[in-house]
Amino acid sequence: MHHISPESWLVSAGRPEEPGAPLNVPPVPASNFLLGGEREYSRGSGTPTWEALETIVGHLEEGGAVAFASGMAAAASVFDQLDTGAQVVLPDDCYHGVAELAADGERKGRWRVARIAVEDTAGWLAAAAEADLLWLESPTNPLLKVADLKAICAVPRKPGALLAVDNTFATPLIQKPLELGADISMHSASKFIGGHSDLLAGIVCARDSERLAALRRSRTLAGATPGTLEAWLAVRGARTLALRLERAQQNAGRLATWLQRHPRVEQVRYPGLPDHPGQAVAAGQMAGFGSMISYDVAGGADAADAVCRNVRLIRHASSLGAVESTMERRAANAGQEHLPPSLLRLSVGIESCTDLEADLDQALHAAST
Ligand SMILES: *Cc1c(COP(=O)(O)O)cnc(C)c1O
Repeated sequence: MHHISPESWLVSAGRPEEPGAPLNVPPVPASNFLLGGEREYSRGSGTPTWEALETIVGHLEEGGAVAFASGMAAAASVFDQLDTGAQVVLPDDCYHGVAELAADGERKGRWRVARIAVEDTAGWLAAAAEADLLWLESPTNPLLKVADLKAICAVPRKPGALLAVDNTFATPLIQKPLELGADISMHSASKFIGGHSDLLAGIVCARDSERLAALRRSRTLAGATPGTLEAWLAVRGARTLALRLERAQQNAGRLATWLQRHPRVEQVRYPGLPDHPGQAVAAGQMAGFGSMISYDVAGGADAADAVCRNVRLIRHASSLGAVESTMERRAANAGQEHLPPSLLRLSVGIESCTDLEADLDQALHAAST
């Protein structure tokens, strides 16, 4: 068969093949299997349901995949690859959970952490010679900064070092870190891959079979296995990822421009905007600009909170990557006070863009009166 497109792969992969089998992989709620076959106890030997998810995402990332209980479990398994005293390099704007995981391990003396701005390409290139783990995220959550992954992934690294990219915001459809030279691409499948705000799951992708085996061993020993229902829902979500992302991304491009012209908006951060500092780099390594926007509301934190209270179609909620648009003021979260106080992070969904504009417009006006 010729090399099928990602859209067709998402729809067709990970399905049972035996005559008489259901078209969809069923949720297999099994901890234990009869001995003599390929599976024994599922924490170590997996279930057909998780494996369908791994098959689907691994191939899209052009490697193999290990599915986890959550994105954080996936990230923790990458940090679990490190020896004591390892040098970690982290973006200064980074998913807060990963930033806290790294800081906790630093306090406990497990590893040392250096923090570099993602857009400081020279800094990353210089750090590559010393680091045991280069952890990148691009575009970043929530400031939408862009790392020059092409340049950073290509630079020679210390032998045995790992370069990992949190690819959650981009999805495997618009950015392929392994192809750019990263060792690991990680996803919170709770976001775009699941796509419906109804599950927690994570995925780590890699090409090296020994690395994949080590990640699987880490999952087995930490017991960070995906739930059966969650894996089944993530497979169901993945079937429509291409369609959802295409629509959400189209909406986001239009909304970003619309927000930029809005009198109550001070700054819009979206890598697809021509005046975004990372636009050219993003265009060179991504097949689209994604569906996440951050924007600063005029009038400070109170005005931004009022916008959140007044949206109706858009849901005032954390998290992202779902069919429904969600929005929140990130600096309102504990540990996030360093962010711009009136920054709202908007995860653009698949609703009518005209309706989203109308909703934002009425909320922005209501907030200023
Ligand atoms: C949500 C998220 C995570 C953590 O994933 P969970 O599934 O919530 O554990 C990691 N990185 C990014 C960029 C995220 O948005």
